[in-house]
Amino acid sequence: MFGCSPGVGRLTVRCKVMAVITRRNWLAALSAGAASVPVRMKAQQPARQPLDLSEYQPKSMLRVHETKVDRARYPVIDIHTHLSFAAKGEKGVPLTDARRYAAAPADLLPVMDAVNLRTMVNLTGGYGDGLREAVQRFDHSSPGRFLTFTEPMYARANESGYAAAQGAEIERAHRDGARGLKVLKTLGLYLRENITSGKLVKIDDPRFDAMWEACGALKMPVAIHISDPAAFFLPTDRFNERFEELNNHPDWSFHDHDFPSNEQLLEARNRVIKRHPRTQFIVLHVGNYAEDLAYVSEAMDRMPNFNVEIGARIGELGRQPRTARKFFDRYQDRILFGTDAVPEGKETPQQIFVKELYRIYYRFLETEDEYFDYAPSPVPPQGRWRIYGIGLPDPILKKVYNGNASRLLGPA
Ligand SMILES: [Zn+2]
Repeated sequence: MFGCSPGVGRLTVRCKVMAVITRRNWLAALSAGAASVPVRMKAQQPARQPLDLSEYQPKSMLRVHETKVDRARYPVIDIHTHLSFAAKGEKGVPLTDARRYAAAPADLLPVMDAVNLRTMVNLTGGYGDGLREAVQRFDHSSPGRFLTFTEPMYARANESGYAAAQGAEIERAHRDGARGLKVLKTLGLYLRENITSGKLVKIDDPRFDAMWEACGALKMPVAIHISDPAAFFLPTDRFNERFEELNNHPDWSFHDHDFPSNEQLLEARNRVIKRHPRTQFIVLHVGNYAEDLAYVSEAMDRMPNFNVEIGARIGELGRQPRTARKFFDRYQDRILFGTDAVPEGKETPQQIFVKELYRIYYRFLETEDEYFDYAPSPVPPQGRWRIYGIGLPDPILKKVYNGNASRLLGPA
């Protein structure tokens, strides 16, 4: 009547319990409600076994189609990678132009060739001597395969005359080969009036206006990361959809302290984009609000210079595949391929530069496969969900893979 499954310890015990219940007292229990379930049955219920959430690795029993996408259907420009970093930083603020390198071109090119990745854009190229060195090391050594963006001189942001100096520095970076500007979430969440102390500097502070304008004048797109996943602004508790991720990286939480809300950060960013209509913005991580595509759509409708990139957010797009597909249809000319890939480390499998990472992105964009992992990892690193492909048609795929990025980057 209840069915007994062989083999599994817990179920076996349960079947034994059922066997001692007569039909008569079972019917009595039903008519009288749960309170009258025979004491003997309750006493013999097996104990629940505790299981640490971090040890839970359920294997899906779904037998669904798996498409192998080893290479992208069209050559890819990854607009969002990190191949070099500031050699020194404090409290989230880069403090030097000197660079530290995560990899050399020779380490990257075989993977790039294997997955049809034509160009990697290294966003964190820094400025000054460090930028010149990074451009030399990547862009000049393998023409067309690597491009480099510059970054603001945050360490000087409290000097008088910073606005003009930063504007001039963008022009110098352009001459030195930088193809765009990268703004990390340093702006809004880490940079303070005394650089690493004092009040947080506002994203729409006028001291950066010359920088945004210089980028527009020189046709250098601005890749901007403001804020973070919405769950990072909520308490790290049992209701938080990224509980495990935040528990593993407590310093990623922006709940409390003097941090602005997610909405305040996004609105300040939108004011900047609105105020500089000649400047093209590539708003990373799906406008930094992949959880709310209606919000991002509204911003894109209002601001034609608002473009987005999808790095590290296929976990959000792929669990709302129908909404995401409509989003790609509507904004097909303003969505860029990116992964946020870093060729080092183990902590963030959703962005470690390996072939498998690219193949997951391709599967998401090119196929209608169902319920697959968004990162090459035994435990989903951002949250416990899986994704569905959106099967983009060829014309949209081409634009997302390289057409939109080529247009924004302009001629070499
Ligand atoms: Zn990034």
